[in-house]
Amino acid sequence: MGHDGWQVPAPQALRAGPGFDLAALDRASTPGWSGDREAGEPHAAARGERLAELQELLFAHGRTGGTRSVLLVLQGLDTAGKGGIVRHVIGAVDPQGVMLRSFGVPTEEERAHHYLWRIRQSLPRPGYLGVFDRSHYEDVLVVRVAGLVPPEVWQARYAEINAFEEEVTASGTVVVKVALAISPDEQAARLRERLERPDKHWKYNPGDLDVRAQWPAYEEAYQAVLDRTSTDVAPWYVVPADRKWYARLAVTELLVHALEGLELSWPPSDIDPAAELARLDAIRIPQPGGAAAD
Ligand code: ADP
Repeated sequence: MGHDGWQVPAPQALRAGPGFDLAALDRASTPGWSGDREAGEPHAAARGERLAELQELLFAHGRTGGTRSVLLVLQGLDTAGKGGIVRHVIGAVDPQGVMLRSFGVPTEEERAHHYLWRIRQSLPRPGYLGVFDRSHYEDVLVVRVAGLVPPEVWQARYAEINAFEEEVTASGTVVVKVALAISPDEQAARLRERLERPDKHWKYNPGDLDVRAQWPAYEEAYQAVLDRTSTDVAPWYVVPADRKWYARLAVTELLVHALEGLELSWPPSDIDPAAELARLDAIRIPQPGGAAAD
């Protein structure tokens, strides 16, 4: 056997290609990765450092007129671990370069607009790593399952979303779409923990159980999303999420690949470092008390 690590690159191992069958996915599996948690956690930490370096490069690129950006779209049922990805994966990079946005039930103002309006407003500016905690996909997930609009309305949205994402990618944004897939048993365990621990009660929403009760309908809606919106310009990656360490490792790796794909380098500068160093050395700051510093 080879050593622990990615035996198949994460983007390849996780991509939802034609015929992808969500029902057949083992949510405790670790596609592409051969090691266990003991190997996975330190590897994720090292790749998190690489991610931070690449994000700084992207930020520098944006500051010097570059047009590229990266957008991570996170979807998943309640307790799938979206918040943990934001905390642990995105938490590894400099927050000033991150544009994080969560999408909940649309506000009155948002409802007065097209469903993509709030999404367009939240797209990352050049140089930024954008993160969507939920997204426009809610408009073909909860909206479809809960019957919030007539079927002909949500049915038309898949093509509209594809056209929108094509436009976004054409403008320089790499879109990384991640669906976190947990099993019903693991969700039950995570909900139970929220109920048993007073410090987790704030995370518990009684409505989560109504969503859980519609599990098969959500699986069907997710399958439709994967069938109809996993395009060449903006593919879906389906990450089994019963093992939190794997989900974090996998999303870190997907982002590292996305950023490396931009092939950015440090922006050229017109400063004269030698002259600037000489100026730095020449400046004498008077010390309190009068004595000049050496
Ligand atoms: P979370 O449950 O992720 O912690 P919130 O408490 O803000 O975050 O709730 C998000 C809720 O908003 C989810 O139940 C989700 O289905 C709902 N939601 C998001 N987008 C829409 C939408 N376009 N239409 C209706 N409901 C939506």
